[in-house]
Amino acid sequence: MTVPFVDLPALAAPDKDAYLAAFARILDTGGYIGGPAVGQFEAAFAEFVGAPHAVSVKTGTDALVLALRAAGIGPGDEVITAANSFFATAEAISLVGATPVLADVDDATLLLDASDAARRITPRTKAIIPVHLFGQVVDMAAIEALVRAHDLFVIEDAAQAHGATRTAPSGEIWRAGSIANLAAFSFYPTKNLGALGEGGCVTTRNPELAARIAQLRDHGQAGKHDHVAIGYNARLDALQCACLSISLARLAERNDARRRRAARYTEQLSQLSGIRLVEVAPGSRPVYHLFVVRVDARRRDSVRDRLGAAGIATAIHYPTPIHLQRAYGSLGQRPGSCPVAERAATEMISLPMYPDLTDAQLDEVVAALTAAVS
Ligand SMILES: *Cc1c(COP(=O)(O)O)cnc(C)c1O
Repeated sequence: MTVPFVDLPALAAPDKDAYLAAFARILDTGGYIGGPAVGQFEAAFAEFVGAPHAVSVKTGTDALVLALRAAGIGPGDEVITAANSFFATAEAISLVGATPVLADVDDATLLLDASDAARRITPRTKAIIPVHLFGQVVDMAAIEALVRAHDLFVIEDAAQAHGATRTAPSGEIWRAGSIANLAAFSFYPTKNLGALGEGGCVTTRNPELAARIAQLRDHGQAGKHDHVAIGYNARLDALQCACLSISLARLAERNDARRRRAARYTEQLSQLSGIRLVEVAPGSRPVYHLFVVRVDARRRDSVRDRLGAAGIATAIHYPTPIHLQRAYGSLGQRPGSCPVAERAATEMISLPMYPDLTDAQLDEVVAALTAAVS
């Protein structure tokens, strides 16, 4: 049996007719950019996230860039984020002219370690981007404490966390994308909510920030031919919005399916010696964008090879911590600067995880992994 890492055609299949009908509708009107499909999707996504405002943009990277711009971050500023994330989190900081400062992650959850972030705060630090990595919400109470002490702006990188929640110490439920000043989502096709191409969105509770993002995505226009800022062309196509609205209707159910897959993996793998799971914090309800296990670094690659030989596709998120990427050689964060992230990078394996993964496929992954580590 082969088990792919993701199965996009299977995900699209139940909505194929609806997607084609949306395409036909848009072809008939010629409204490729803007129009009702965009506003309808934004309203539905804002409702799902629990933030009053959602502004769709071209990519998750644009969502981060526009959020940083709206927050007034630019040259001379430092922004702290996690060393173990997709490169785009730091890249967005560089794209607005600011300097990324990569902080280490917590060894149990692999999420941004607030105490390590605190040690990296300087007078130039203007913002912090906690990344809800693998679909688990960061401990935002610890981040809040830093923010209050140092007057920082917070942007959630929620690209992997559509629908994830965590119970705050106050008992309030944090919903990814509705906690901080601004949040960035990606609708890259493999994300929990994926477009049929590129897509992204900024969410916020602040109407002024929402308006600023809406201007920035449209060449800084306040009105037609009235450019009040140097912006971007970062609008999301009507067709993508129409298709995202269709897929959004299945997101809650698909997140639940991922949680059931994760529970089955956890049940079967938690007692297995030689395997370490990413911990789920108390009160946390991740959406399992990825299901990551850790094995001894010395045999990580051979374990992956054995899984591959058994027809099971795996991946690594991420093999090189951001501060050690060649593009960031000039940052001066040497090996040893984020030891937990650096070690995790040599141990992690992402297993197949998607709503349509069958019990039989999952059990096959577990059997192959068990054989590979024993
Ligand atoms: C996917 C992703 C992004 C970038 O999103 P794109 O839509 O690919 O530009 C940023 N941060 C994280 C954590 C991601 O997983």
